Amino acid sequence: MSDVKKPGPAINNRPDGVIREQKPQDYYDGIKAKFAEERDLRFKYRPEGTAQYTSDTAAFAKYTVDPYAESLAENPRAPIDDTVEVLFIGGGFSALLTAARLRERGVQSIRIVERGADVGGTWYWNRYPGAACDVPSYDYLPLLDEMKYMPSHLYAKGPEIFAHCQNIAKKYDLYDLAVFRTTVTSTTWNAKEKLWHVGTDRGDTMRAKFVICANGTLSKPKLSKIAGMETFKGYAFHTSRWDYEFTGENLENLHDKVAGIIGTGASAVQAIPRLAKAAKELYVFQRTPSGIDFRNDRPTDPDWASSRRPGWQEARRMKAMRGREGDPEVKAELNALDRAEKIRRQENSNIEYMMRIHRRIEEVITDPKTAESLKPWYMFMCKRPCFDDEYLPAFNRPNVHLVDTHGKGICEITAQGPVFDGKTYPLDVLIYATGFEVQKTGIYNQITGAGGKEINETYADGIRTLLGVHTHGYPNLFIMGGYQASFQFNLTFMLQTQGDHIAECIAHTRNNGFDTIDVTPDTEEWWVQEVIAHRGKTNRNAECTPGYYNFEGEANRRQDGNYNGGFRQYFEHMTGIRGDLARHFHFTR
Ligand code: NDP
Repeated sequence: MSDVKKPGPAINNRPDGVIREQKPQDYYDGIKAKFAEERDLRFKYRPEGTAQYTSDTAAFAKYTVDPYAESLAENPRAPIDDTVEVLFIGGGFSALLTAARLRERGVQSIRIVERGADVGGTWYWNRYPGAACDVPSYDYLPLLDEMKYMPSHLYAKGPEIFAHCQNIAKKYDLYDLAVFRTTVTSTTWNAKEKLWHVGTDRGDTMRAKFVICANGTLSKPKLSKIAGMETFKGYAFHTSRWDYEFTGENLENLHDKVAGIIGTGASAVQAIPRLAKAAKELYVFQRTPSGIDFRNDRPTDPDWASSRRPGWQEARRMKAMRGREGDPEVKAELNALDRAEKIRRQENSNIEYMMRIHRRIEEVITDPKTAESLKPWYMFMCKRPCFDDEYLPAFNRPNVHLVDTHGKGICEITAQGPVFDGKTYPLDVLIYATGFEVQKTGIYNQITGAGGKEINETYADGIRTLLGVHTHGYPNLFIMGGYQASFQFNLTFMLQTQGDHIAECIAHTRNNGFDTIDVTPDTEEWWVQEVIAHRGKTNRNAECTPGYYNFEGEANRRQDGNYNGGFRQYFEHMTGIRGDLARHFHFTR
């Protein structure tokens, strides 16, 4: 039995906008100036923004091959030609948690179409060593109440989460109609039939009354465009296609290998401690360091688990949503301030947090030069915060070598390995931890609506949605995890909110004998303006160091990001809209 009585919060001491440790403003301004200097350095190296990455060229197709399934040639199947009521594009958490709600509302005919060979999405693909959630499992894993499941640890590991996905699919009978190893290539509205026609790379013609884009926000692996990378003679793969045949199930094949990893984002932070222990030598090629906070993982306390009452997860999530905003002392203090003062305080609080991250590095890392290299110089939340207790100590090992490219990155790879500052690093295996395309290649992909317009054409002057979910002229189509939705560090809570909303919209349409539901242009315009109003509140995107959070610094993204009005406000808007569907949507029979 664990001696810990309560699972703790995910993020310790996160900035709350109220400075606890007062220092002269010059101190904070000096650090902000250093942040700006580091950001400018990176913009100078990569003015091309997101174009620095590639995911589509034929030469790199090998990096996207599924290593967890047999080849397609061994798995032929006849094209499908049929009609279902609800079709999900993608079989990850978005689809699973929404499908559960649809089943609860009596929907029988549900199909998942998925590129992988099973459900799970992120947790199907990302099997790199150390993969685990970074949000407490009790909040992150969806449908815990419904599944009567309690995660084994505060931070469940990848295989446990993947199994949870499979169990959801089993419980809600989602395997029956599911189609795997299949990628949707076109989604076209047929006005006469009032059905979506869904084409795939397997020659299928599926029809569906409702389509839910559940492709995931970060589902397509990308590679940095590095000169000569195709000439590398060693073995190479991307973190999201981990090749256990090469590394061995427990990385045992790496004991005599020199390994390298490009990238130090959240995936690399989890993989590096395991690689460090397994490889003969490990070279970490760093462009920008991640901020590493405490993890403090621990097994779930059985007493705590058995004392949970039905509805506990929902109650916990709702409390988390209200919690921080609910501290009356903090709220009263903040409310009394003008906008500039609020921003100043929040920034200073963020800087305090980042300096605490720096102090931890100094305490853990024995070599002062390495410690300096590992310090992130950007504002809290400019990049995805990471939580790990083994990452920093890995750099104290004699077989681990940090190659700090100080913002420049690896720009050349030869047959032997990556080159930096005129030096070649010969490697046996090179792992790309270079991340994923953000939304653009997955979700908004060849969707042709009622007016015959492909959705990207409709969005030519900027994304247009209600809540990030509905777009006028695309009846019975719902988008999950897309632009103009709110941001939540616990992504599955955001997705569940959308899933509940979508299930309710579909139920209302069915139960009232309607064929279609389409957002009105006025309601859509109201939301676009809400998004624009909130995005203009701070210069945060422009001031942050480049990364996928700010489209690598690309300009002109006025309405093409998250809704920044806060998750609680998003949730309340959504609830309000559901309270009066007839005012916000046009229904036809
Ligand atoms: P990221 O996009 O976060 O990281 C990519 C990394 O590659 C960055 O460190 C980037 O540097 C680096 N890079 C790119 N090109 C080069 C180059 N030429 N030379 C050197 N370095 C380079 O990808 P991840 O897969 O790590 O994470 C993506 C997201 O997936 C996370 O932010 C998170 O949302 C999610 N995730 C969640 C996890 C969880 O919940 N446990 C675990 C893993 C991922 P730079 O910073 O300078 O751009």
